[in-house]
Amino acid sequence: MWGPLVPWTVAWAAWAAAAGRAVPEAAGASRACGRAPLCLNESSLQQGCCERERGAASFSAWGLSSESLLDPFPIDPIQENYVRNVRNCIFSVAYPTPFKSRVLLVAVSKEVLEDILDLDISVKEKVDFLQFVSGEKVTPGSVPLAHRYGGHQFGIWAGQLGDGRAHLIGVYTNRHGERWELQLKGSGKTPYSRNGDGRAVLRSSVREFLCSEAMHYLGIPTSRAASLVVSDDDVWRDQFYNGNIKKERGAIVLRLAKSWFRIGSLEILARSGELDLQRRLLDFVIQEHFPSIAVNDSNRYLEFYSTVVLQTANLIALWMSVGFAHGVCNTDNFSLLSITIDYGPFGFMDSYDPNFVPNTSDDERRYKIGNQANVGLFNLNKLLQALKPLLDPRQKQLASQILEEYGKHYYIRFTELFKTKLGLLGENEDDNYLIAFLLKLMEDTKADFTMTFRQLSESTEDQLKELHIPEEFWALQDLAKHKLFSEWVTRYLLRLNRNKGDSDTKRRRRMATVNPRYVLRNWIAESAIRKANLNDFSEVHLLQQVLQHPFQRQQAAEKAGYSQRPPAWAKDLKVSCSS
Ligand code: AMP
Ligand code: MG
Repeated sequence: MWGPLVPWTVAWAAWAAAAGRAVPEAAGASRACGRAPLCLNESSLQQGCCERERGAASFSAWGLSSESLLDPFPIDPIQENYVRNVRNCIFSVAYPTPFKSRVLLVAVSKEVLEDILDLDISVKEKVDFLQFVSGEKVTPGSVPLAHRYGGHQFGIWAGQLGDGRAHLIGVYTNRHGERWELQLKGSGKTPYSRNGDGRAVLRSSVREFLCSEAMHYLGIPTSRAASLVVSDDDVWRDQFYNGNIKKERGAIVLRLAKSWFRIGSLEILARSGELDLQRRLLDFVIQEHFPSIAVNDSNRYLEFYSTVVLQTANLIALWMSVGFAHGVCNTDNFSLLSITIDYGPFGFMDSYDPNFVPNTSDDERRYKIGNQANVGLFNLNKLLQALKPLLDPRQKQLASQILEEYGKHYYIRFTELFKTKLGLLGENEDDNYLIAFLLKLMEDTKADFTMTFRQLSESTEDQLKELHIPEEFWALQDLAKHKLFSEWVTRYLLRLNRNKGDSDTKRRRRMATVNPRYVLRNWIAESAIRKANLNDFSEVHLLQQVLQHPFQRQQAAEKAGYSQRPPAWAKDLKVSCSS
């Protein structure tokens, strides 16, 4: 099925004919590439090849489609790949630019391949698959697209942004009937690349690959990651914006989401007065992703807005419940489906600190962890501004009232999650106080966020009663240094006694399913990245395994120190926007 000229031309020709346009020449990305051989090690090609071919035979018949994105929307009529201001469309056709050098497939997510993409894990051995995930070939029937969006960056309208280094390579509907949009990130320039090179480096790709999957296993709505490819192509980055430009290696993540539309997808259309197109986009999003909203309901945009407000509050409360700071909460990084997208300089907080800022480029500390809920409000207000031209005066007023409720939704969800983290059942008017009291003790003592909750889950009531904190409970030992610790414990134990039908064993078991033992701390990611830079991907693989079961104690993770106090060098770690 994989011809030297990929049969995307068939789909393209059909679309172009319908649109009355000439069929363009095949872009470089779709040609069989006459460059250095792709790296499947030779022995794997010689021995056992036939076996693997059999195992992954289905890949030649597997494919994506772009119809569901090409049909409803006008496409940018310009087909050349150069940076420009684009209008009157949602997507531009843009082909990935293959790397020039050797390409290695260094990690895949078995679950994503098998459970979402219906592929056998053995597909990772196939040359075609490597060509697919590295942007060298597109599957028959798909037309790669770059999405036009805008956004408010750090509070200021930034104009056109768009997929500057991502290609939406098609849609896959799997055996469960789920529709997934596949994107390559780091796959070359598009009309939206502005001054960028269209690439992503290995360190940030490792982080996105690992973290998006980790978030999924923590139960947090997120994009997923199927594969990680690294090349030997030079990519130049000034990692800390201090003039120290260094050569790094280009990498590509194949990532998936039910939809990649963002608040910025609507903002750009509202700003440029393309209201008909905005309506079409909204109707599409509602029809595809908000099944409870009737597409012909005159209040559908209001209902859509109300759902996004609720779900965004939920998402941010979930982030807070695991100590996750996104790092760049611009409106272009906020999904209309309220899933976590665009992993950049994110961070899981070690010591509890509401002022924790994972992104060292964020001088104003705008996206500090304690400000995420406020930033959610800011972004939802920008969404409201974008929707206003489509609402009548009564709906506008109702939409403003919906937004006013955001804080309440957030607070309710935050409280629910933290009550669950503390193993509290039922209602008690002092629950918020108990939570706030604990967080204040954690802040004062700089206790570790993740392990304080985990070690509370692992402590028996008797241990707490006697204020006997075993040495291995290092986070609780830090917390216990606070002079009000025993007062908090007394209140906590009294509250646990009010849990109806509970036992200490049940409480600990319950808490251990919501308080992770392992999260992708910066130092852990950094350790894996340092090895990956030396072509040792063993820690990436280990982390994939560990983070798939964040609530289960695992020997390999314990040996690696992932539940231990972060090493001293972790304090000096910096993550910037550069990626
Ligand atoms: P981000 O901060 O990664 O969410 O990106 C913000 C905007 O910058 C988006 O429009 C990206 O596509 C674009 N962008 C970021 N890095 C690059 C790059 N290396 N090349 C081209 N565009 C980029
Ligand atoms: Mg982004």
